[in-house]
Amino acid sequence: MKQSTLFTKTQKESPADEVSKNAELLIKAGFINKEMAGVYSYLPLGLRVMKKITGIIRDEMNAIGGQEIVMTALQDQALWEKTDRWDDKKVDIWFKTKLKSGSEIGLGWSHEEPLVAIMKNFISSYRDLPTAVYQFQTKFRNETRAKSGIMRCREFVMKDLYSFSRNEAEHEAFYEKAKEAYKNIFKRAGIGHLTYLTFASGGIFSKYSHEFQTVTAAGEDTIYIDEEKGIAVNHEVLTDEVLAQIGTSREKLVEQTAVEVGNIFTLSDRFSKPLGLKFKDENGEEKNVFMGCYGIGPGRLMGTIVETLSDDKGMIWPESVAPFRVHLLALGEDADARDEAEKLYTQLQAQGIEVLFDDRTAVSAGEKFADADLIGIPWRVVISPRSLKDGGVEVKKRTEEKGSVIKIEDFIASLK
Ligand code: ATP
Ligand code: MG
Repeated sequence: MKQSTLFTKTQKESPADEVSKNAELLIKAGFINKEMAGVYSYLPLGLRVMKKITGIIRDEMNAIGGQEIVMTALQDQALWEKTDRWDDKKVDIWFKTKLKSGSEIGLGWSHEEPLVAIMKNFISSYRDLPTAVYQFQTKFRNETRAKSGIMRCREFVMKDLYSFSRNEAEHEAFYEKAKEAYKNIFKRAGIGHLTYLTFASGGIFSKYSHEFQTVTAAGEDTIYIDEEKGIAVNHEVLTDEVLAQIGTSREKLVEQTAVEVGNIFTLSDRFSKPLGLKFKDENGEEKNVFMGCYGIGPGRLMGTIVETLSDDKGMIWPESVAPFRVHLLALGEDADARDEAEKLYTQLQAQGIEVLFDDRTAVSAGEKFADADLIGIPWRVVISPRSLKDGGVEVKKRTEEKGSVIKIEDFIASLK
């Protein structure tokens, strides 16, 4: 893409009303637009990152047998009353609205109820199990706090997967696979080294649930990390008994501020029972389907990457989620250098390499460098009369202080 045609521009000043670093940088660089507190739109650069992140998640969910669907945001009152989750006193984050007829409907903040209602049409026998279904879908939550930029929104996309099993053992086997898939996701998104499998309370259905918590000062949670084991616990389960059970102890734990980027949860028959999702086992006996749920907020993950992998000049995207792989900068007005840059742009595109080409005229070299640092594309490649005189292009990784001049062919070969 040519930067001269990108409708978004970078801003020199930070937005005045943002306290979070992720929103500040993403708005400054033109990745997102703030609509109101906790509500953001994704612009071309931001949407490209979002698509890379959802691509990684989709890949991992498909790998464990997840089947993708998309459900509606609109929620039926009668259905949610059956599980006692309609009342605002029970769930305080509902957005609700009214039909012309006067009856109330809700905007979904989670999707156990409607999915169980769908699955009732298809599950009746042990032969229909196990199965797992997921979606990327917009959730609405009337969150009290909305000061963490895209990490806590009132409208946000969630990947929510739900598993349906015959019994606890079958559920456990899937749960373990999901745990590994989640680890892969955070590793592939570049924050694996900062993300801990965190033991949390499992309510009455299971001993524990698990959160994936990424260490960052921007988080709203506190976790206690056992670095040696590479795990953590949250405050709900910080008891000597639990610590002994998972093979750690208080002396080994270090307190850190973190953000929950994902969580996995055993639901057992919490929803299948009140909603009547049953199956006949091998002996013809009727049983409740055993469920689990598995959530990740791709936007929160994107915000977490910005919070943890940026410096004072701007963002630093891992290649796996970067909006483009290469940021090609043409400097100066020299016609030969411009031609070479155009040629390289065409060549990179022909190789299928995603490149943002800063072909803007009447923009100083200093501004182009500052924009490249702010936008944070992994490889910066400069073509100027000087680089050509020195033998090619100046190549610099976003994480490096200084680049080096290499031959154009060598650069192309190095990307393969
Ligand atoms: P939190 O405790 O941070 O509010 P939660 O327990 O409400 O999270 P879930 O309801 O399990 O989270 O949602 C699953 C995932 O969706 C979370 O792990 C997080 O990645 C994401 N998520 C939750 N709430 C928000 C939000 N308001 N904005 C963006 N992402 C969110
Ligand atoms: Mg919440």
